[in-house]
Amino acid sequence: MKKVMIVTGGGRGIGAAIARLAARDGYAVCLSYLNNEKSANDVVAGIAGAGGEALAVRADVAAEDDVVRLFRQVDSTFGRVTALVNNAGILEKQSRVEDMDFMRIGRIFATNVVGSFICAREAVRRMSTRHGGPGGGIVNISSRASKLGAPNEYVDYAASKAAIDTLTIGLAKEVAAEGIRVNTVSPGVIYTDIHASGGEPGRVDRIKDSIPMKRGGHPDEVAKAVLWLLSEEASFTTGACIDVSGGR
Ligand code: NAP
Repeated sequence: MKKVMIVTGGGRGIGAAIARLAARDGYAVCLSYLNNEKSANDVVAGIAGAGGEALAVRADVAAEDDVVRLFRQVDSTFGRVTALVNNAGILEKQSRVEDMDFMRIGRIFATNVVGSFICAREAVRRMSTRHGGPGGGIVNISSRASKLGAPNEYVDYAASKAAIDTLTIGLAKEVAAEGIRVNTVSPGVIYTDIHASGGEPGRVDRIKDSIPMKRGGHPDEVAKAVLWLLSEEASFTTGACIDVSGGR
C-alpha cells in the first residue's frame, strides 16, 4: 500500500524536518503551510531533488474549508492518506495571563486545538476500517509546555497543548479497533523560528542550562520520534506520548 503523509505546517522548522525524513522513508508527502510559500516550495524541491514525492498546499488549519480542500487535494494527487502529523502550531508574544486579550486566546486555540481536531476528523474518515479504509497513524505534536505551564510566557499555548494531549488519549481509544494508532510527540525547546514569534529569538540559548542535557534540541530529533511512532516498529503503541526534551 502506498504510504501517504500529510504534515501540517511542513514548510519550516519541525514540520519541514518531518516532511524530509518521511520522504526518505518512502512516503509521498503533502506539506501544508499558511503564509510562507517559498519555504514550503523549497522543501518540496529538496524532496523531489532527492527522488521523493512531495506537494505543498496552502491551507489554514484554523479554517474548515481549507482543511477539507487539503485532504481532497491529497486524495486526488497521491491517494488515501495513511499518516497525519498535526504539527502546525502557533504561540504569541510572551505575556502574563492578566494581559492576554480575548482574540489572542481564540487564535491560539483555533489553530492549535480546533485545527488538529478537524484534520484528525478528515484523516479518520479516510483511514478507519469503519469507513472502508485500511487504517493508518496520527501523531499530534504537543509540547512539554502542556505539563510545565509556561508561566509568564504563554499559558494559553501551554493549555492548548494540554488539549492536544487529551485529544490523543481519547481519539486513540476511539479508533484503536479500527486500524488507527494515535500518539503524541512532546518536544522541549527546539531550535526553530517559533521562539521569535514569542518575541525572543534567542530563547533556546537563554534556557538551555536548565535542561538536564544542557542543550536545545534540533528538528530532526523530533522528526525521528514521529517517524518511529508511525512505523510498524511501534505496532502496539497507541495513546502514548514521547517526550523529546533533553530530560526537561
Ligand atoms: P515554526 O518554525 O514557527 O513553524 C510553524 C509552521 O506552522 C510553519 O510552517 C507555519 O506556516 C505553520 N502554521 C502556522 N499556523 C498555521 C495555520 N493556521 N495553518 C497551517 N499552517 C500553519 O514552529 P515549530 O517550532 O517548527 O513548531 C512546530 C510544532 O512544534 C508546533 O505545534 C509547536 O507548538 C511545536 N513545538 C515546538 C517547540 C519548539 O521549541 N520549537 C517546542 C514544543 C512544541 P508558514 O511557514 O506558512 O508560516
